[in-house]
Amino acid sequence: MYEEIKQKAYEANMLLYKYGIAPFTWGNASECDRENRVFAIKPSGVPYEELTPEMMVIVDFSGKKIDGALSPSSDTPTHAVLYSSFPEIGGVVHTHSVNAVAFAQAGAAIPALGTTHADFCYGAVPCTRELTKAEVDSEYEKNTGLVIAEYFHETNTDENAVPAVLVKSHGPFCWGKNAKAAAYNAAVLEIVAEMALKTARIRNDVPSIPQHLLDKHYLRKHGKNAYYGQSKKD
Ligand SMILES: [Zn+2]
Repeated sequence: MYEEIKQKAYEANMLLYKYGIAPFTWGNASECDRENRVFAIKPSGVPYEELTPEMMVIVDFSGKKIDGALSPSSDTPTHAVLYSSFPEIGGVVHTHSVNAVAFAQAGAAIPALGTTHADFCYGAVPCTRELTKAEVDSEYEKNTGLVIAEYFHETNTDENAVPAVLVKSHGPFCWGKNAKAAAYNAAVLEIVAEMALKTARIRNDVPSIPQHLLDKHYLRKHGKNAYYGQSKKD
């Protein structure tokens, strides 16, 4: 059962490998089936070279394993909280891509400095608060998801317009309409993080992109009157 989401989760995990944004086994992607309230996710600790679609593990929104021979990724409870909290997303990706992690370790948001960033995210990519000791000691991965959801709810940020976040001292979580889109966002996030770092090296007081230019680039791709690209897209 669940062959289709297993296949899609597998393909997205292999994209992380192909893009070079998940060193060693430090990354995972999942694909959601909203109708059945389950998702397919990478098994824990299996190298990308050895992965197969059949190895993907099926888990419900409470993080309980439903199907699969292997143990799911240790980050599975984070994915489960994100699917519960963000009702429109269909895929989640976590990586330890270097430049995004650098911002997470600095506890800094990635500012929207140019149109590359504006094409994928409507404003800065935020960084969450630090988890407390109690949150780390018990149900750490679930609490990681809750801290992400807390940020978006408390700041009234639209998770569909800002498809990525940095967990402080840890790294990025990204999402999208499916796992493939989430993997794409994770790759773009890494590129814009590198661009922002290099920009700051040249000049450390560059302001964010002007609002009208942010609007133009984000909305032409993602707004209700989007016109970028071909009219029929998957
Ligand atoms: Zn991690």
